[in-house]
Amino acid sequence: MDNVKKSPDSHKKAVSAGLQSLRSVGPNRARLLNNLGINSVEELLYHFPRKYEDRSLLKKICQLRDGENETMFGTVTNVGDIRPRRGMTITKAALYDGEATAYAVWFNQPYIKKQLKTGTKIIVSGKVDLKYGNIQLSVSDFEIIGNEEPVYGAGIVPVYPATEGLPNRTLRSIIKYALDQYMDSVEEFLPPDVLKKYNLLPIGQAIFAMHFPRKLDDVQKARRRLVFEELYVLQTGICMLRGTVFESLGICHKKNGPLTADFMKRLPFKMTQAQERVFQEVSRDMESTKTMNRLIQGDVGSGKTVVAAAALVKTVESGYQGVMMAPTEILAVQHAEGLMELLGPLGVQIALLTGNMGKKEKEGIVQNIREGRIDVVVGTHALIQDEVIFQKLGLAVTDEQHRFGVKQRAKLKEKGQNPDILVMTATPIPRTLALTVYGDLDMSVIDELPPGRSEVKTYWISEAGKQRVYSFIREQVRQGRQVYYVCPLVEESDKIDISAAFELADKLQTDIFQDLKVGLIYGRLKQNEKDNIMKAFKNGNINILVATTVIEVGINVPNATVMVIENADRFGLAQLHQLRGRVGRGTYQSYCILIANPTSAEGKARINIMTRTNDGFLIADEDLKLRGPGEFFGTRQSGMPDLKIADIIRDIKVLKIAREEAEALLLRDPHLVLPENVKLRVKVMAEFRGTENYFTIS
Ligand code: ADP
Ligand code: MG
Repeated sequence: MDNVKKSPDSHKKAVSAGLQSLRSVGPNRARLLNNLGINSVEELLYHFPRKYEDRSLLKKICQLRDGENETMFGTVTNVGDIRPRRGMTITKAALYDGEATAYAVWFNQPYIKKQLKTGTKIIVSGKVDLKYGNIQLSVSDFEIIGNEEPVYGAGIVPVYPATEGLPNRTLRSIIKYALDQYMDSVEEFLPPDVLKKYNLLPIGQAIFAMHFPRKLDDVQKARRRLVFEELYVLQTGICMLRGTVFESLGICHKKNGPLTADFMKRLPFKMTQAQERVFQEVSRDMESTKTMNRLIQGDVGSGKTVVAAAALVKTVESGYQGVMMAPTEILAVQHAEGLMELLGPLGVQIALLTGNMGKKEKEGIVQNIREGRIDVVVGTHALIQDEVIFQKLGLAVTDEQHRFGVKQRAKLKEKGQNPDILVMTATPIPRTLALTVYGDLDMSVIDELPPGRSEVKTYWISEAGKQRVYSFIREQVRQGRQVYYVCPLVEESDKIDISAAFELADKLQTDIFQDLKVGLIYGRLKQNEKDNIMKAFKNGNINILVATTVIEVGINVPNATVMVIENADRFGLAQLHQLRGRVGRGTYQSYCILIANPTSAEGKARINIMTRTNDGFLIADEDLKLRGPGEFFGTRQSGMPDLKIADIIRDIKVLKIAREEAEALLLRDPHLVLPENVKLRVKVMAEFRGTENYFTIS
């Protein structure tokens, strides 16, 4: 595991070292860290705090305020535990601060008692409760000071994304060890002139300050450097991809002929002007010698699939095979069915390929693809596996682009000799931003919905209005319609989310809608279980489908007319818009009901925007305004690349600079082979190789 580099400075420890090379990390903790996506010391050093708590003002006991979260320092004078009932332990420690005594209380952590000997010095944080003349703190975090210097002393305390079994306290000390052991071997890879020009901190200092800042200002400086670094590596990678992979000579497709015309004629509707325009743009690219790399952005329901289908027909007409990749099995099946309806009558041979298929069946299809008996194949990630070989691939389409990484797109491309590439996304982002984020793609926009769609009516209902929502659901179901009922991501742990989803489904089924069929679907289910549930919903055997956000993308059940979203203020705008896009897909009037009692101004504003407009592009712009720069360490909004530290909305200026600098650098050294650029090259390659879902929305 420890692949220590043999370089001139091999006396230094390599940050690529395995986690178990760290003091205090054994197999157990290594596994817990793996769960957080941390697999090396370097990744640990880049596991940055989610926020910081300012504990620089330790309170004296007499200053503690009832009901507030406070931090105090004291010496243990007494410890005991009580068991008020079976399965419950309360550990109580008396802490003396030189003037008064307060009681720190832990629930169900009986092992704490052993750590709290009389005389132990400790910092505790927690909610203050003044009761019966006693001052009590329900401990949320603590640190035993002992005789050593505290890890965070009494200053700014980092709060990390944590996981079960690895509380913040532990993470902090592991990271402290990592910094002690490895800080000096973190190598600078940004060009010195860039560092100087933008006045950026050296890498080691920046990493240290992120974890253990002396004041919040330190964090800001460190973050600036790391944001720049992240975006610079991203942009360098994107520009390199564009230069090397995408700007090569490609396939010249034929002009649209009788097959394409037949396809248009058989469509059950007329394409909108926007669809036609985009198809022309696609056709032009496909007919040119340059390889097509085009992104189609279109709001949910704008009819991107039809344009993709037309392009697939075009490639078949030119004598090539086409492939369409979707992020989930449900979507792949849906697309395959849709394409069979549209292309089947034209004599185009279509197949579905997913990871879930039986081995035999899969082998048969793979063979048919290789030998050219299949014209168009639709599938999931299974398509990019090695055994899938095309006879003559002309066009590769990926749907819901944001779910796939640059790398997966490149891999699909490798399935042919420079096939044309078409990617589709329903997550509109403002155009300036898109140019930079999807910097390696040309862009088409379908900015018109098919005629006759009635707008989804959106309502904001407070928690207190739930009974009315229930009656409304009942009425819609009585009319034969179906309902999605989304429960929010509550915590960062999906275990908790699943139990919340179960609870909600159970409540709806047993307390509210005994006579109806309530179903439940969530991300962790096995694929075939998900498919079965979706099938049952499509067939009308489920009236109300409780779901986590797995239904966010692409599902098409036109009979579903109601989208209820609980705690809607916890969702990002892009996500709310996607969810709403699941209804209003048929001829029935549809409704989106946002249940929320937002506590923040931003939460309120988001809900308000949703009730005001159905336009995804407008929503994206509002989103940008709402989240504009300035807000420090806010919640991450979906709809954007999964970056560790940068936020492409908040950091849009840095993104642009990073882009310019990356382009300038690559102009001088297109493949980063000059000695001074080799470290950067290694970094870029590692990012683009290792990070499958670079553009994934979590
Ligand atoms: P999305 O852009 O969200 O992927 P789809 O391609 O799934 O949208 O299309 C949504 C629905 O609209 C489908 O049922 C499709 O058949 C229908 N549709 C697409 N284009 C048109 C059109 N020009 N006129 C009428 N209906 C259309
Ligand atoms: Mg779609």
